[in-house]
Amino acid sequence: MEIRIEKTQHPKKRPSDDEILNIPFGKVFSDHMFMMDYKEGKGWHNARIVPYGPLSLEPSACCLHYGQLIFEGLKAYKTADGSIVMFRPDQNMARMNNSCDRMCIPQIDEKEVTKAIAKLVEIEEAWVPSAPSTSLYIRPFILADEAFLGIHPSGSFLFVVILSPVGPYYKGGLEPVKIYVETNYARAVKGGTGFAKCAGNYAGSLKSQAEAEEKGYSQVLWLDGTERKYIEEVGAMNVFFVIDDTVVTPELNGSILSGITRKSVIEVVKSWNMPISERRISIDDLICAYESGKLREVFGAGTAAVISPIGELKYKDTVMSINGGKIGQISQRLYDEITGIQTCTREDKFGWIYKVK
Ligand SMILES: *Cc1c(COP(=O)(O)O)cnc(C)c1O
Repeated sequence: MEIRIEKTQHPKKRPSDDEILNIPFGKVFSDHMFMMDYKEGKGWHNARIVPYGPLSLEPSACCLHYGQLIFEGLKAYKTADGSIVMFRPDQNMARMNNSCDRMCIPQIDEKEVTKAIAKLVEIEEAWVPSAPSTSLYIRPFILADEAFLGIHPSGSFLFVVILSPVGPYYKGGLEPVKIYVETNYARAVKGGTGFAKCAGNYAGSLKSQAEAEEKGYSQVLWLDGTERKYIEEVGAMNVFFVIDDTVVTPELNGSILSGITRKSVIEVVKSWNMPISERRISIDDLICAYESGKLREVFGAGTAAVISPIGELKYKDTVMSINGGKIGQISQRLYDEITGIQTCTREDKFGWIYKVK
């Protein structure tokens, strides 16, 4: 892929690591972005790295009306020796193509796009923070930009990658959060778009999230869209339980998003020779496990927070206090191992690190 590079004439001052630790997630963006265009018959073309700035779209652009829009999220880290690395970008690109397929968006060249992202990150090297728990969040997305109001797949698309230096997702460190089990709204159904990282899924979840916040909970636990019985995910994270000595997570069923952190947790747990079970688990089974004292830990897993311990779950009138509201041993151990690999302070036994420079 040939990439044209146009450097900004007005570089911004990158916030200091201290400032990054205090700005909200995803509010500040680096100086440049990557873009390329797609036209039917021509394919992806015009790859370029240009100054970060507003996009120009027709008001009739397809994505603005019918939501043909997908995204990804991954991170780059600065290591102690000054190298810059990304965590499992191949997995994000493979998932992006799955999302593309579901939303009638043309496939991207996973290897070439990974290289283009690495090039952008390299150009923005100075934007990669180095303080503990900081990273450069990478947001690739594809939007349908053909100007028409008919409901059919767009004939043109724009692929964009923007970068945002971020601190830890939870400012107070690895703090257990309170989760509300959603019994009214649904996030996704089998046959729907739950497994795709498409914009509409998140718009549809905002009301549930807002109502949970009003009740004093930080996120919701989603149950299946048909029966509101089987556990799916927590907010925009996958969910794990430690029941007795087994790590349990809902199996991928078409409505759950296949997280790369989820996949990494499973591989790490297996490497520890600890039992792991990907299976259907109902909220009633979970309550049984809780009541018999077998539910030892609950945590969410996703790129933004990596591991997010859950200290309380509320389902209807049942309030489950998990591990006395404290971080569980396995949650902490997984957090240390995965963030250690990400920042190259622990051995990359699995080959997950992609070196940018
Ligand atoms: C992105 C996302 C996740 C987590 O995926 P990661 O690849 O681990 O970041 C889980 N659930 C939903 C709904 C998501 O959007």
